[in-house]
Amino acid sequence: MTEMRIDLHTHSNMSDGTDTPEELAVAAARAGLDVVALCDHDTMAGVSAAQASGERCGVIVQSGLETSTQFGDSTVHLLGYGCDPDEPALSSALAHVRLSREQRIPRMVDALERVGIVVSLEDIAAQTAPGATSGRPHVADAMVARGVVPSRREAFDYWLEWGKPGYVGHYRIPLIDGIALIQGAGGVAVIAHPWGHGTRHLLTSEVLVELAHEHGLDGLEVDHNDHDETARAELRHLAAAHGLLATGSSDYHGLGKTRHPLGCNTTDPDVFDAIVDLIQTRRHTLEATP
Ligand code: AMP
Ligand code: FE
Ligand code: FE
Ligand code: ZN
Repeated sequence: MTEMRIDLHTHSNMSDGTDTPEELAVAAARAGLDVVALCDHDTMAGVSAAQASGERCGVIVQSGLETSTQFGDSTVHLLGYGCDPDEPALSSALAHVRLSREQRIPRMVDALERVGIVVSLEDIAAQTAPGATSGRPHVADAMVARGVVPSRREAFDYWLEWGKPGYVGHYRIPLIDGIALIQGAGGVAVIAHPWGHGTRHLLTSEVLVELAHEHGLDGLEVDHNDHDETARAELRHLAAAHGLLATGSSDYHGLGKTRHPLGCNTTDPDVFDAIVDLIQTRRHTLEATP
């Protein structure tokens, strides 16, 4: 039997991906994946539809989410697998983040207007699927549709990145609380691309070890295209030394992000089994607690 191919981080149009959740499962099957985790930003809204589609095309869809947490002055992306979407503490925290994300959109429109870029709330709404978590990529898509920039990349590079004129932040759950909320909802907490865009200086080995031992962090996304071979080797070593699960994934966003095709990085089947076991154990604990 050939080895299972498992991609544990993808996005649909329930956040800033471009495939519907149904299309995502179909695309995963076409890419030869056996398991795909849907990890939309701050929502699990696409999971059921992706799972139903996955059953039709023979792909297991693992439920997941990705939340941009606050760590010091910086942002750390945290993945949560297998969370109960109805668990009150996590679902209200995520609702709070989504509301704050909504509320920043008019402020971004104003900020862009001040530097002479006209995009309307309607333009942005037209790029955002109903029920999706809104984000800067939707503002970028509206700028592309208006002909302001050729692609999301330029929109970010010149206007939307932190420090650029169109940047506006949103409420983020503190990282340590995020880990606890995910686990309290029966889930498994893994830091996404820990040494990707600018977080390497922040998430030093010492900090990651402390997060593992003091705050119960479950794993690190090691194989990700934002990590070079050296970073991957160091993170893999660190994970092994401190009992952290080491995952691998594409961070696929459909047409929304190049260089991240489905299955470009995968997770070891034994690691996925360990994640599934942890989810089961935590779910039981959750259900046994009155
Ligand atoms: P937000 O969550 O609204 O702050 O937007 C951040 C999201 O934008 C990330 O999850 C990425 O998927 C996406 N993103 C960040 N930088 C870029 C870029 N240069 N090109 C395309 N997408 C990007
Ligand atoms: Fe994204
Ligand atoms: Fe991310
Ligand atoms: Zn992601």
